[in-house]
Amino acid sequence: MLELKHIKKYYQVGDSTTKALDDVSVSFRQREFVAILGPSGSGKTTMLNGIGGLDVYDSGDLIIKGKSTKDFKASDWDAYRNNSVGFIFQSYNIIGHLSILNNVEMGMTLSGVGNAEKKAKAIKALERVGLGPHMNKRPNQLSGGQMQRVAIARAIANDPEILLCDEPTGALDTETSVQIMDLIKELSAERLVIMVTHNPELAQQYANRIINFADGKIQHDSNPYEEVAADDNFALKKTKMTFWTALKLSFTNIKTKKGRTALTAFASSIGIIGIAVVLSLSNGFQKQIDKTQSNTLAQMPITISQTVTSQSTGTKDTTKTAKTGQIKAKTSQSDQATHTNKLTKSYLTYIKNLDPKLSKNVTYTYSTGMNLIRKVDGKVKTVSFSNQNSKNGNSASAAMASMTGVGTSVYPGGSQQQSFLKKHYTVINGSLPTKANEVVLITDRKRNTNINALKNLGFDVKSNQNLSYAKVVGTTIKLVNNNDYYQSLPTGNYLPNKLTTSLYQNSDNQTIKVVGILKAKNKDSENVLATGIAYSDQLSKNVISANKNSKIVKAQKKSDSNVMTGAKVDSDTKTSLVSYLGGSTTPASILIYPNSFKNKDKVLKYLDKYNKGKSKANKVIYTDLAGTVSTLTGGLMDAITYVLVAFAGISLVTSMIMIAIITYTSVLERTKEIGILKALGARKKDITRVFDAETTILGVASGCLGVLIAWGLTFPANAILSNITGLNNVAQLNPVHGLILIIISTVLTVLGGHVPARMAAKKDAATALRSE
Ligand code: ADP
Repeated sequence: MLELKHIKKYYQVGDSTTKALDDVSVSFRQREFVAILGPSGSGKTTMLNGIGGLDVYDSGDLIIKGKSTKDFKASDWDAYRNNSVGFIFQSYNIIGHLSILNNVEMGMTLSGVGNAEKKAKAIKALERVGLGPHMNKRPNQLSGGQMQRVAIARAIANDPEILLCDEPTGALDTETSVQIMDLIKELSAERLVIMVTHNPELAQQYANRIINFADGKIQHDSNPYEEVAADDNFALKKTKMTFWTALKLSFTNIKTKKGRTALTAFASSIGIIGIAVVLSLSNGFQKQIDKTQSNTLAQMPITISQTVTSQSTGTKDTTKTAKTGQIKAKTSQSDQATHTNKLTKSYLTYIKNLDPKLSKNVTYTYSTGMNLIRKVDGKVKTVSFSNQNSKNGNSASAAMASMTGVGTSVYPGGSQQQSFLKKHYTVINGSLPTKANEVVLITDRKRNTNINALKNLGFDVKSNQNLSYAKVVGTTIKLVNNNDYYQSLPTGNYLPNKLTTSLYQNSDNQTIKVVGILKAKNKDSENVLATGIAYSDQLSKNVISANKNSKIVKAQKKSDSNVMTGAKVDSDTKTSLVSYLGGSTTPASILIYPNSFKNKDKVLKYLDKYNKGKSKANKVIYTDLAGTVSTLTGGLMDAITYVLVAFAGISLVTSMIMIAIITYTSVLERTKEIGILKALGARKKDITRVFDAETTILGVASGCLGVLIAWGLTFPANAILSNITGLNNVAQLNPVHGLILIIISTVLTVLGGHVPARMAAKKDAATALRSE
């Protein structure tokens, strides 16, 4: 059955060598009760551990059922211990946090025996040792004798062929000892029982063979046996602990130290809390910034006007003093700063070729006037879309509006028209415009609109007077071509025709309709378009294409005087007169609304590229009012987030180190358990797995706890921030971030605990069992 051939096991401690087993050769029968007697320190336990595969001998050979164990791998030893050997120790070695049943089942759990069979076998074993009635108690509710019975049940549950007992009654009183010895004696009828003891009477009374041991050598064998060489019939089922078992084992262990686990989980969750809070704050801030940015962009487009005043406030005064006794003529600073942009065809094409991904909305304003007439109370009157006071204003004011920063009256036409308007305005009556000849009335958030705009449209209103929607929506206005609107006089001058019904009804007229009232969505939207009538830039384009070849335009182009008044004009005034009459396709200004701050920079780069290598006069200068805001907010938030995440990351690393330390202490604490599991046939991997499982539980727990606490913190954080800044819901924890953080926490914790877990697995089983 078992044969030891010249087994040697030496221990080297410092300079001295202990010969624990010194050339031991002995064989055992398949069924017998062998007692190994000897003084303490004579090597009995070492031999027992060697037989049981807990400790591997230095030299010699151990032959099990005809198979040499010289080439045994660790997994073979594990399987051997699990399948063939049952251990009974002096100190019982019951795993305290498991139930009695689970203790007895453990060996079978390791070899993957099915649940029902495992339970049946365990109960049978417990009944056999007389523990039937106490099965449901916890290990710490049992007496010493009962504990040893549990250990015996565990040893025989899987019906091993070899039972190894190390001073099984060493810790028991005489009466209980007798009961335990009777039980072991009974078991020896079915298998080989090897019992280590230093009690000769006990050996004499129960064993059928006594081997005396001293100084690592067999001194006497009362019933020697010679093993007949047998065929190798060693076939063992390999053991394997599933991760689930490992989890269960760790979970029951963790349950015994709830308080400590909770504290640990909380402490290591602090890093997660930190990161989660920083992320949720920066998340919210980013959203706020994005909102502010897009609003800023909406109200402050990049403007390219025909004339610009460059903001050169910081330039040094470099003018030289005039010559003595003389004065010097100097161009004024404002004249110096005024630049005329040449919005040539090629420049307009350049703008058209701007990547639509960067800016969907480009508005063109024109300084063309419109010949608008409307029937008010049966009388035909001239009207305008201007919101300037008609006493000192003119129809071209809309085009000027954008340059003075009060918002323009022109929105981009074409495919982007609807989305542009919807982004900033709510339709409170009527509908959004769909065609160029549909215009809208813009109001602020309080539904106030410019009184001049209403007056210029022909409404008789007083300040603060309320009007019904219906009064404005549906209003129709006629747009008259120059040729119909103006008559040429014999002098060559031109005059507007009389405002008659027939002029109103002229079939060449276009009908323009106020289709809706749009209210600004928020404070920033109020600056997008000026309150009053707003229209598509397509309408201006239509007017220009209808009028650019009209008689009055042709006449004005030729004449050096104003064709309506006859007064002499200079070339600049002439140009603006031609534009006003619709004779110029050059826009007065171009408004570019970029999609985002990043894209705005790209748009600016694109515009700068045009100027490269051009003379000063040919450069096109733009105005970027939003510029200063962008550089400030953009990078700052990122920087703050990085710094905060770095800080939180440090605490995460700290908690990882803490987990490693805690796992390490747990390893130290559970050394005995590691020994027991190994005695039952657990592999190194299984031990690692038990501790990995424990850290997984800790990691998931601390991750969940951290995310939960961080989520809870967003509420008071939001309340405080709302009080201080007036911003609502700034802190928002993204659920995806939460999930990622839990995963990170788990991975880091497992990583931190894995090193001590590996150390635990490497622990020598025999040493582990010797530890107290
Ligand atoms: P017994 O069981 O007869 O009391 P042991 O087998 O426990 O004896 O020990 C035999 C000898 O080997 C003793 O001198 C003991 O100190 C020594 N020994 C056992 N294990 C170790 C070890 N891991 N390291 C060093 N010496 C050991």
